[in-house]
Amino acid sequence: MVERVICYRAPSTVAEIDGVADWLRARVDANVSVRDRFLEVHRTDNLAERFAEARVPSPYERETGNTMLGTIRYEERALEHPEREGGVLYDGVAVQRALNAALPDEERDLETLHVAILDRAIGTWGDHDGRWHKRVHVLGQPALVSVPGLYEAPAKPEAYYKEKQRHALVSGDAPPREVLENQVEGDFLVADDPRTTDALKGYALQAYHYLETGEPFCDRECCRLFNAHYHEDLIDAQLREPAFCSEHAPVYSGSDR
Ligand SMILES: [Zn+2]
Repeated sequence: MVERVICYRAPSTVAEIDGVADWLRARVDANVSVRDRFLEVHRTDNLAERFAEARVPSPYERETGNTMLGTIRYEERALEHPEREGGVLYDGVAVQRALNAALPDEERDLETLHVAILDRAIGTWGDHDGRWHKRVHVLGQPALVSVPGLYEAPAKPEAYYKEKQRHALVSGDAPPREVLENQVEGDFLVADDPRTTDALKGYALQAYHYLETGEPFCDRECCRLFNAHYHEDLIDAQLREPAFCSEHAPVYSGSDR
């Protein structure tokens, strides 16, 4: 049984973690609290090296890691100044192992769930297609929730990719993101989207649900516990009514509604 949930802030992003925690607190039977950045609160000496080891150098190669001194220095700077890092994909499972090892012993039990909201892009390797896939979250201890993953991991509407391709044929380069966003029908989240905090709530709840019940997701698309692979589905699941399917509504509808 999960007795306490600790959510960690991601101050270099627009995500307001106190809002996520308030929402969670009204729905789960556990003590919910908020701390500052996980990578600040639980900084260990070898964390930069562990991040360097978890780097994904190519989307089509299973091998990760670059522990050359320059890369470790980069990772040290990224830990100190998170607002300056970006564009690197990390093996989510390796990062999760590293962050689990960074937890103090007395907080590593399964009655305590840590939800590390991160400003890093994380992925998992797809054995079926031989490439890395960006992820919004990796469930477990700690649960990792990636804010960039929220924007980048789910597939965007087909028209988005078509427009991108069309632009490349005409002008030989990629169109600015804003152009794509204004010209493509269909709904998707963009970087720093004002709906970020709201969308993260369901992912934090999935982390709780998994530890509490052992079930990873709900397969009904309307439900906050649905693991969406497309932006349109993500928006359906996280931002449109109803919040939960008929099975999970009685469990998680909460006290503030
Ligand atoms: Zn459900």
